[in-house]
Amino acid sequence: MNTSRRDPDCIFCKIIEGRIPCSKVYEDDLVLAFLDINPLAEGHTLVIPKDHVTLITDMSAERAAEFFERVPRLAQAVKEATASDGMNLLQSNGRCAGQVIDHVHIHLIPRTTGDSLGFRWKATTYGDGRVDEVLRKIVEKISR
Ligand code: AMP
Ligand code: ZN
Repeated sequence: MNTSRRDPDCIFCKIIEGRIPCSKVYEDDLVLAFLDINPLAEGHTLVIPKDHVTLITDMSAERAAEFFERVPRLAQAVKEATASDGMNLLQSNGRCAGQVIDHVHIHLIPRTTGDSLGFRWKATTYGDGRVDEVLRKIVEKISR
């Protein structure tokens, strides 16, 4: 029995249900992978859970484990098929982070030495005392 949750207005849910076509790479009972319609490189693939969840933090540990379990094999297949040198995995949460489709997805983005995609974000440093403060808050949340 299929117990996946769907959002009738979600593009990716419509793809799962076959109401919008996709170039399907892989499908099983919990996961679908398909080519991104506007690829950053040939073979750019999206991996999605069949459950409609918006953010990675909405996923149960069990569903997340099942979801991520598929990723290495899919990434390896895309890498070999595109004869790429490496790959970026990107998973965005929230508009501020660039998430456009509100259904959890991982981008598999094949990379080739010398391609023009770039990646380096502008890194920063911690100000006085901030590292301890930030660390304390995160550790507190984890152990709560
Ligand atoms: P994000 O910005 O992380 O939410 O990524 C959403 C991705 O979905 C973008 O890279 C889009 O190109 C891709 N996308 C949107 N609609 C479709 C579609 N119908 N089929 C395949 N990919 C899509
Ligand atoms: Zn959805």
